[in-house]
Amino acid sequence: MTYRILLINPWIYDFAAYNFWARPLGLLKVAEFLTQFDVKLFFIDCCDSFTIKKYGTGKYSYQTIQKPEIIKNIPRRYKRYGISLEEFIDRLRRISYVDLVLVTSIMAYWWHGVKEVVDIVREYLPNIPIIVGGIYATLYKEHAEKKINADLIYTGQLEERLIENIESFGIKLKRIREKPISWWKLGFYNKMPYAPLLTSTGCPFRCSYCASSLLYKSFEQRKIDEVINEIEELYIIGIRDFAFYDDALLYKSETHIEPLLKEIVKRNFQLRFHTPNGLHGRFINKNIALLMKEAGFKTLRLSLETVNIKRQIETGGKITNEELERAVFYLKEAGFSSQEIGVYIMYGLPGQSLDEVKAGVDFLKKLKIRIHLTEFSPIRGTYYWNELVKNGIIPDDLDPLFTNNTIFSELFYGYPKEELQKLKIEVNQFNLLL
Ligand code: SF4
Repeated sequence: MTYRILLINPWIYDFAAYNFWARPLGLLKVAEFLTQFDVKLFFIDCCDSFTIKKYGTGKYSYQTIQKPEIIKNIPRRYKRYGISLEEFIDRLRRISYVDLVLVTSIMAYWWHGVKEVVDIVREYLPNIPIIVGGIYATLYKEHAEKKINADLIYTGQLEERLIENIESFGIKLKRIREKPISWWKLGFYNKMPYAPLLTSTGCPFRCSYCASSLLYKSFEQRKIDEVINEIEELYIIGIRDFAFYDDALLYKSETHIEPLLKEIVKRNFQLRFHTPNGLHGRFINKNIALLMKEAGFKTLRLSLETVNIKRQIETGGKITNEELERAVFYLKEAGFSSQEIGVYIMYGLPGQSLDEVKAGVDFLKKLKIRIHLTEFSPIRGTYYWNELVKNGIIPDDLDPLFTNNTIFSELFYGYPKEELQKLKIEVNQFNLLL
């Protein structure tokens, strides 16, 4: 029997959102995995509605929606980003019936989007088992079990146990092929202005604010040939912009990124690569900088997070100021412009003064690269989350909505608002004038 399975990526529910090469890669991998079985797949990406801008990035369509009661005093408009409610319902109606629905979840503070999707599916496709997985489901299992009307909350990575979970609903999947069909061949997207690339899973580092180690059991790098074939297949169907989703793309570079980039250069693909996840500047040497330039990297983001040496060590020691300076030097020497190199620094880390953030901004200004100020918000299960709970700043059962960086910064930072605003304006102006 051929089972009909619907996979859904819910909307983003937030105050602000912009599509920097986002795709629900975890869900696409689940779809790929399921192609080994006798199934007919349906796919709805609620976020697949945006006006395409530079390098395939995009401005999401949105509808302004009512704020959940507990955040009603936040003085900003709350939005549902992606396709309209009507379009979602219409697409469900056209699918007419399925045997199983799989819903992913990404940021925990978007959980209202997951809830709404599940509630609507319940209404239009009644009595169908619904499994919710993904990041929110993994980090907030108990919360999801309470708040989301799903039949099962699947935690962790995609593994064979998903089949056992599916079979627990009486769905006996029959294996029909040895190798899965790649997600881009499944016709889920009408337009693909870019493609995500994941050459490794997990991260060898353990930063105190990051959930990577909670989501992935270990750090694993894929075979170079496999990645090259993927790029080539996507290139043949017209993809020119690629975004690396790796947490540690440059780790063990001599056996990973170096051979990968050499092969890309050799094949003379005319591609543009982007690294929205911060790169480890520590691993950028003259050779790697030159290879990145030759291979076609266009948007480089490096992570510094803070210029304060003590806090750098305390948060995991992934980079020093000198290592960042050296990386920027090599990148510029390789021909990257100031606009192409951006560095993330955080504000709002527990115990971090605004002066420390300003010192970081001054440091980056001297390097003449783009400055990306990013708000800290705690992730459940991380060291910083536990510290905040221990110090009575947040309760362990804090509604994930409050971890939205906009809300968290409003409620918990304690920085003088005008001063922070002034700093943000200063940074924007600096970036514009580069
Ligand atoms: S290096 Fe990046 S991905 Fe790895 S633990 Fe630190 S913040 Fe997370």
